[in-house]
Amino acid sequence: CGIVGYIGTKKAAPILLEGLKKLEYRGYDSAGIAVLEDEVIQVQKAVGKLTNLENKLNGSAPCGCIGIGHTRWATHGKPSDENSHPHQDCAGEFAVVHNGIIENYLALKDRLSKSGHHFCSQTDTEVLAHLVESYYEGDLEEAVRKVAKDLEGSFACAFITRKEPGKIVAVRKDSPLVVGLGEGEYFLASDIPAILAHTRLTYVLNDGEMVVLTKDKVTVKKACNGEIIDKEIFEVKWD
Ligand code: GLU
Repeated sequence: CGIVGYIGTKKAAPILLEGLKKLEYRGYDSAGIAVLEDEVIQVQKAVGKLTNLENKLNGSAPCGCIGIGHTRWATHGKPSDENSHPHQDCAGEFAVVHNGIIENYLALKDRLSKSGHHFCSQTDTEVLAHLVESYYEGDLEEAVRKVAKDLEGSFACAFITRKEPGKIVAVRKDSPLVVGLGEGEYFLASDIPAILAHTRLTYVLNDGEMVVLTKDKVTVKKACNGEIIDKEIFEVKWD
């Protein structure tokens, strides 16, 4: 299980795949990526090894410069294409990747189903996509903060939306998440090896912290109230 993210000026897809390869050691049963291209979220996912995903993408990889990726270790719902991440809301306007377990997902799913949300997977994770859609009022960061408040369990998750195509918002509790600080580009990953090819400067997020990434800025905040945190840079000295 691993998460990656990229925002910058290069094509995201190859960078996401390369990052996921570096996280293979964590174990996984399926993989997927979501890339924002011309304000549309392009999602590709495949059960099995990363080569299955690469084969699917072969020749038709999206060209956008913002994206998120995931290797899944199934906890809720069997390993399958549908249960692979990223997951989306019904209209395909949001995409999310998640590591961990949403303990109260059944109650959340029930609530969302009653208000008309239709689910396509058996995962706990899919509630995140529908929740963020239900809370969104023009500010992804604000919506993600509301989502995080609803959750019990462990999570490192990253969100994108076609409504704010220049942004990735991520939040963590009891699952690891690091940010790589490049020049005019930023990276997100479950672990440092996934970003070392690009930068040695990182923010290591703590529980209850969220991060907002745009092409030219990274802001770490408290997930509970959005207060900005003066985060210390951690420079990786090892190879
Ligand atoms: N609980 C989620 C699922 O089963 C995420 C698993 C993971 O951390 O990869 O889809």
